Amino acid sequence: MDGLVLKGVSKSFGNTRAVEPTDLTFARGELTALLGPSGCGKTTLLRMIAGLEEPTRGTIRLGDTDITALPAHRRKFGMVFQSFALFPHYSVRENVAYSLTIGGMARARAHEKADALLETVQLGGFGDRRIGELSGGQRQRVAIARALAQEPQVFLLDEPMSALDAKLREEMQVELRLLQQRLGITTIVVTHDQREAMTMADKIVVMSNGRVEQIAQPQEVYHRPANAFVADFIGKANFFDGTYRDGAVQVGGVQLRASAQFRSGSPVRVAIRPERACIDDDPGDNRIAARVMFVRDLGPLREYHLQSDIGPIIVEYAAGETGPTLATGDETTVRLPPDALQIFPRAEAA
Ligand code: ATP
Repeated sequence: MDGLVLKGVSKSFGNTRAVEPTDLTFARGELTALLGPSGCGKTTLLRMIAGLEEPTRGTIRLGDTDITALPAHRRKFGMVFQSFALFPHYSVRENVAYSLTIGGMARARAHEKADALLETVQLGGFGDRRIGELSGGQRQRVAIARALAQEPQVFLLDEPMSALDAKLREEMQVELRLLQQRLGITTIVVTHDQREAMTMADKIVVMSNGRVEQIAQPQEVYHRPANAFVADFIGKANFFDGTYRDGAVQVGGVQLRASAQFRSGSPVRVAIRPERACIDDDPGDNRIAARVMFVRDLGPLREYHLQSDIGPIIVEYAAGETGPTLATGDETTVRLPPDALQIFPRAEAA
């Protein structure tokens, strides 16, 4: 298999440890998102994969070949970074064909290939335009076409859509994902945007403080986060700190029944997604008195912001779901189903 394999790869800048020793496998043809907050080390990791930064320790292999010491230009990876760095005085076609003609391909053939790539990124007919005559999203697609011109085995993108407005960004995420699947190219995307990662990735690598917190498929990262950091970073969650004892978590004066196994007396953090909390008449476990502090109606979603005996809780209903009709100031009862509670040891939750 021609996957990309990192073994014990780390990077220090002076006293700053940007990336802790990391083992990662990027399977052939898959799209992996490196996701985490600013400064977590994702760009540094990508730059080491690109050959733009030398690892302090560890090895990087592509299939059977150790590429750790191979300079960037010899890796022949496709790259699209935050600034697309297109040549403004060249035409769109010349931008895409540039690496091919520099590599010795005849101009006519390089231009033919560039036109085919422009078709692929839905910019057929734009070849003669100057870069300055394109929108941000079109420029981004030129950068993608240019990166793909050399038929790279590996395609690396660092926040490629950060310059685009929200709507275009979402459209481009879908387009890029479809293109990547069609080409079957091993792709790594750095992003701090969890929606971008959820939209595009086969696998998400969640990072914080230079460490990998979880590697899993998007749905698994959302529904089974490895720890409280991941639960907090991916999607929304309500959190409560308490102590685990005999199948329940004591939070202040309230006992929350929970299906979890911890040593009695362990400090834990409880998380529940807003859409898993309920306001209903079900006589099940974990019913807690609450007062409505704020109602946030977003159209497709309605959020109830509650104050309860265990702290603030947000409960979310999708439009069309049968939910309560409550107003600010109403007294109600919130229910936290035991199987919807995620319980993490508190040391990790710090
Ligand atoms: P962002 O989303 O803000 O780009 P990131 O997750 O990509 O963040 P990195 O750019 O990889 O984070 O940085 C990780 C850490 O390494 C940060 O603390 C950063 O300040 C530090 N760092 C990165 N590059 C260098 C450098 N060339 N010299 C010194 N420190 C660096």
